[in-house]
Amino acid sequence: MKILVLNSGSSSVKFQVIETDLERMNAHQDETLATGQVEKIGLSDSRLVLEVPGRSTCQDYREILEHRAAIDWVLRALTDSDHGVLGTVDEVDAVGHRVVHGGEQFASSVLMTPEVVEQIEQCTVLAPLHNPANLRGYYAAHNVLPHVPHVAVFDTAYHQTMPAHAFLYGIPFQFYTRHHLRRYGFHGTSHRFVSFRASQILGWQRDESRYITCHLGNGCSVAAIDHGRSIDTSMGFTPLEGLLMGTRCGDMDPAIVPWLMAMEELTLHQINTMLNKHSGLYGVSGVSSDMRELLRARSEGNVRADAAFRMFCYRITKYIGAYAAAMGGVDAIIFTGGIGENSPEVRERSLETLGIMGIHLDRERNAALLGGEGEITTDGSPVKALVIPTNEEKVIARDVVRVLNGIMPTFDPPETLGSS
Ligand code: ADP
Repeated sequence: MKILVLNSGSSSVKFQVIETDLERMNAHQDETLATGQVEKIGLSDSRLVLEVPGRSTCQDYREILEHRAAIDWVLRALTDSDHGVLGTVDEVDAVGHRVVHGGEQFASSVLMTPEVVEQIEQCTVLAPLHNPANLRGYYAAHNVLPHVPHVAVFDTAYHQTMPAHAFLYGIPFQFYTRHHLRRYGFHGTSHRFVSFRASQILGWQRDESRYITCHLGNGCSVAAIDHGRSIDTSMGFTPLEGLLMGTRCGDMDPAIVPWLMAMEELTLHQINTMLNKHSGLYGVSGVSSDMRELLRARSEGNVRADAAFRMFCYRITKYIGAYAAAMGGVDAIIFTGGIGENSPEVRERSLETLGIMGIHLDRERNAALLGGEGEITTDGSPVKALVIPTNEEKVIARDVVRVLNGIMPTFDPPETLGSS
């Protein structure tokens, strides 16, 4: 079946058309027919990019003021007789929507009935920037494609199996019961996919293995996948917690926030922007949030770029150590995301001191693996390390198939604390 996958942000809509079904999924033969995006929604020079494998990229510019017009434009491009990949919109069999926050209500992907949409609306309080944009994309797509199933795939869902001792914060319990204030974790589709794929590659049973998955892109998170279930992950209530990221600070002493607000007379908005947009690799190095530029600056002797690189890798090392301890051991480490897939330097540095845990890097394999899939540890290494390209759109398309076939795996949260 042909599935339109939509990732709707506040000013952009990324899309893919993916042909897949149960047979193709099992054979790992899903086919991406087209990818693209509409950028700068709300401005007069909105841009649509459409890429079809084997053809040259198409671009178009026009004024697009809201998501409905953006989705119309996407469908017109996809059915265009010269550049499109669909005869008519009727060829779209289903739509998969990336939804950032599913709160405690959603532990797996789900068909978007009116009740489900209402519940996603309720989760907006937890993700005020993301969920409304995701829903705008849904309403726009549902308007044009009202008769096909729409499925929501949540960034948070896979981590709903975290036990309370991993998801609670050490603040008064009433904030959890009153506001659902707890750790949720993100990048769940990616962590789920690469751990699943690792089992396929290694020929292991996922429910018999312990993985630590490192999703390193602009946003970065590590997850502990114990016998197929996420038991901890480094992002928390928001995607700000955990690793150092492109522009986000990751873990830090929370007392810094009021202290700095007082010292610098910052508003809530300013401190929020500083922690999310001006920190991380960019804030420490003063060079860039882009790992490629950071590595270049570092090789030219830039001391702050070197410090940012070291901090980035050191935190990955610490999380791997912590999660191995949490699971009583680890069988494989998996790297994914733009940095995880493409930076042998980051992988080498992060694993450098982990020989004590039985992780023995094969430097040549590691250096040779750029953007592909494979092992980077020596043949005899007791713990494996792998690189597996993630593809969140593919996971969304596959979840659409699973939901429609009634085979979406559900991972029940291990315990409830009576918050909902
Ligand atoms: P997003 O989280 O936005 O999906 P990506 O997964 O695309 O991000 O990852 C973006 C990051 O990947 C950037 O920091 C970029 O510098 C990094 N990256 C891409 N290619 C390379 C490379 N060859 N070497 C090092 N880093 C790379």
